[in-house]
Amino acid sequence: MRPHHKVLIRRCPQYDPDRIAAIVREGMQELGVRPQGRILLKPNLVIAHPEIFPHAFTRKEFLEGVIRAVKAQATAVDEIAVGERSGITIATRYSFRNAGYAPIVRTHGVKTYFFDETRQVPVRLTDPHALRRRIFVPEPIARCNFLINLPKFKAHPWCRLTLSLKNFIGLQDDRHRLVDHNQFLEHKIADLQSVIQPRFIAIDAITAGQKMMLTPTPFDLGAIVMGTNSCAVDTVGCHMVHVDPAKLLHLALASARGFGPMRLEEIEVGGDFPLAEVQAKTRNFQFCLERIDDYFGTAGNLTCTVGRFPEAHSADYCWGGCPGALQEAMHILRGFTPDVDRRMANIRYVVGAVEGPLDLAPGEKVIFAGRCTRWQGRIDGRTVTIGSSYRGPDAVDEARAPSNDMLLKVGEALVRSTLNKGRRWIHIQGCPVSVAEHVFYLASLGKIANPLFDHRLLVPNLAAYTTMRTHRFIHRCIGG
Ligand code: SF4
Repeated sequence: MRPHHKVLIRRCPQYDPDRIAAIVREGMQELGVRPQGRILLKPNLVIAHPEIFPHAFTRKEFLEGVIRAVKAQATAVDEIAVGERSGITIATRYSFRNAGYAPIVRTHGVKTYFFDETRQVPVRLTDPHALRRRIFVPEPIARCNFLINLPKFKAHPWCRLTLSLKNFIGLQDDRHRLVDHNQFLEHKIADLQSVIQPRFIAIDAITAGQKMMLTPTPFDLGAIVMGTNSCAVDTVGCHMVHVDPAKLLHLALASARGFGPMRLEEIEVGGDFPLAEVQAKTRNFQFCLERIDDYFGTAGNLTCTVGRFPEAHSADYCWGGCPGALQEAMHILRGFTPDVDRRMANIRYVVGAVEGPLDLAPGEKVIFAGRCTRWQGRIDGRTVTIGSSYRGPDAVDEARAPSNDMLLKVGEALVRSTLNKGRRWIHIQGCPVSVAEHVFYLASLGKIANPLFDHRLLVPNLAAYTTMRTHRFIHRCIGG
């Protein structure tokens, strides 16, 4: 069979904007890409901070190189813009500043869309296999006719890898992003592909990320991966780090829905960095795809009891929700408090439907996490009943999704932690409980410093949040 899709792996050892611009321009020419119309560049800016989160995002030099290449290759341009929604409820404009994007978009006269400030519009999904009949996306995405996807090459504790397909989670604002961000995360990623398809993809794989998505361990991969089909690009990305594409569930789902191939034989792999050479380099590339009960084990002061989960397709574990958020939260806490696993007070984390006694150690506190969690037993001589309020996708109306506003969440956590003082356990609602909420409750119950109140984050984050709310009000209520 003749391959229909072409993916290029190019060598690029450093973040040199001139070199990146030349490579991306050559890639566009080889793939026959001519940007035009309303061109939108979508980087991965899930979180950014030069000291605290230096490897989580598509680097500014990469963005600059791509902007230059796009300008050189484009015809009949209506607009060139950069758009993104950062994760864990942090205002996107704060991440743009931390990533160093602001001077680049200014210098190149490119427009910026912070998706948390724009209108969110419904898009009808006609795919019979889609989880939902409609999905909300920012208006600039619905209007765009030439999407350029600029993911960061990273391992991912929920999904194994985040490449082109997974980067679409950053299209949605918090209110809609957390809908189905649970056992259906992989289905949600496949659904998002129905909204729009990228016309060009360039992955920042110069410094790749291992294990975590927010606090990855850097890996000097020295590559740029380019293509015009997300499934093809992700398939090659899988092989670059020894992952079977069939195990990247959102890729398997997207491919089954007709978005592209997931077999290497259907893809022509070009460029100047042979796949075999990449694979030799990535022999020890690290992932963190472990259940939390195994991952945290019994060596530290956090131990996990994991029960059964409500959906039949993954009843033994919820890969897309609370457990992964706990892992990300603990990695953030480790970045702020060395040896946090031993310095925090004893905490038992309980998730899913759990039967039988918890056998708590003296003084050990309990976090019951998530809407699906159920347990009945005795703590401190009293009967405690934790009931499930889990609702499947059919019972969750995406148009009425809760706000997930940062200040509301932190305020609620503050009040609940204060009222809960003296009690051994707390049940945190949410499906999922977000990474930020995990950080807050772990810090509060574990009696360790809360990174959300770190001086490097608190004031600038709050200032960006206030500006974001003002702009959101103008854009969404008054229009513009
Ligand atoms: S509550 Fe958490 S663990 Fe339970 S299904 Fe939802 S996301 Fe998964």
